[in-house]
Amino acid sequence: MLVIRRAGQIFTSSDHYGVVENGAIVVEGDRIRWVGPDDEIPVSLDKAEEVIDAEGKVITPGFVDAHTHIPFYGHRADEFEMRNMGMSYMEIRAKGGGIRRTVQMVRQATKEELLEYNRKLVRKALEYGTTTLEGKSGYGLNLKDEIKQLEVLKELDETEPIDIVPTFLGAHEIPEGKDADEYIEEVISWLPVIKDLDLAVFVDIFCEKGVFSVEHARKLLTKAKEMGFRLKLHAEEFERIGGAMLGAELGAVSVDHLTAVNEEDMEALARSGTTAVLLPGTTFFLGKGDYAPGKRMLEKGVKVAIATDFNPGSSMTQNMQFMLTLAGIYMHFTVEEALKAATIGGAMALGLEDEVGSIEAGKKADILIFDVPDYRYIPYNYAINNLKMVIKGGRPVMP
Ligand SMILES: [Zn+2]
Repeated sequence: MLVIRRAGQIFTSSDHYGVVENGAIVVEGDRIRWVGPDDEIPVSLDKAEEVIDAEGKVITPGFVDAHTHIPFYGHRADEFEMRNMGMSYMEIRAKGGGIRRTVQMVRQATKEELLEYNRKLVRKALEYGTTTLEGKSGYGLNLKDEIKQLEVLKELDETEPIDIVPTFLGAHEIPEGKDADEYIEEVISWLPVIKDLDLAVFVDIFCEKGVFSVEHARKLLTKAKEMGFRLKLHAEEFERIGGAMLGAELGAVSVDHLTAVNEEDMEALARSGTTAVLLPGTTFFLGKGDYAPGKRMLEKGVKVAIATDFNPGSSMTQNMQFMLTLAGIYMHFTVEEALKAATIGGAMALGLEDEVGSIEAGKKADILIFDVPDYRYIPYNYAINNLKMVIKGGRPVMP
């Protein structure tokens, strides 16, 4: 048994518990057994194997980063500089840059190289408070290398103190020399293999003008759903073409990006209970101003998550604390709304809301202790790491 006591505030991300002032948490094994005021701890402290004194600091649930593109290989720091000097993505792409460069690097890496490269990236995410992380294939674009990526996710999940949820995103980009119609049939033909190997929970598609159409997405996702996969979509990032509506119609667990959605889309998502995963880091890093209308979504009753979109092209960060800052400034979320979106919202986007995402009796003991005087201080003291301790499944893992 582990008892964490004397927390100045416990931001539980639970409507039932709210913010517990001067709180304590009792953990048994990997589960939270009790949360409440410090002077009401229901067990004798002598029985605890470990007591952590939170010294008046702030506790939140571990972050659930529901949209990343781990595992990838190599970096594109030079392209970031070119972009800042005014070069367009298409110009960079013509010089051999862009996503196809990452595809090339991932294909060339051995499984072992890919694993060790991403182990470092994942540990950094954990250091910044992410205790559950979604990752995707999509830089292989052939069966062999897509499987390699998914196997790396599985191995990271098994060997690192972080839960990793794998998504098959074979339909991320059209490989060179193919057309979308032909390639989508190939991707569909890979689904039984991925299923047999049990390598993915979700199937996702990059549904965007000039890449995969709504018809492509319908074809792939209908097949995936029949086979028992859960669904996600990259939708309405650049132009509104109907991906969000399709996600709502097919019962997708989440639709992601959504910078170009309209009122009708938001109403459909609210009705279907599909979680909207918003990625303010991408809009920020691309130097754009079209943040997703997150506040409007909350008003309309859409379930909302915020995530990093961690990838080497359009959002090179694992820092969920900074996403809270961006959600506040650009989407006008209160800190409470942003923290919930980064924890229980992320859990909903992965179908894990009964397991993680809040500090409640029965849930996994994924707990962060921040060295700050108030939970609102976390996004306010921005772009740095305010964490003092990360507890994953009842065990301190950082520092
Ligand atoms: Zn993405």
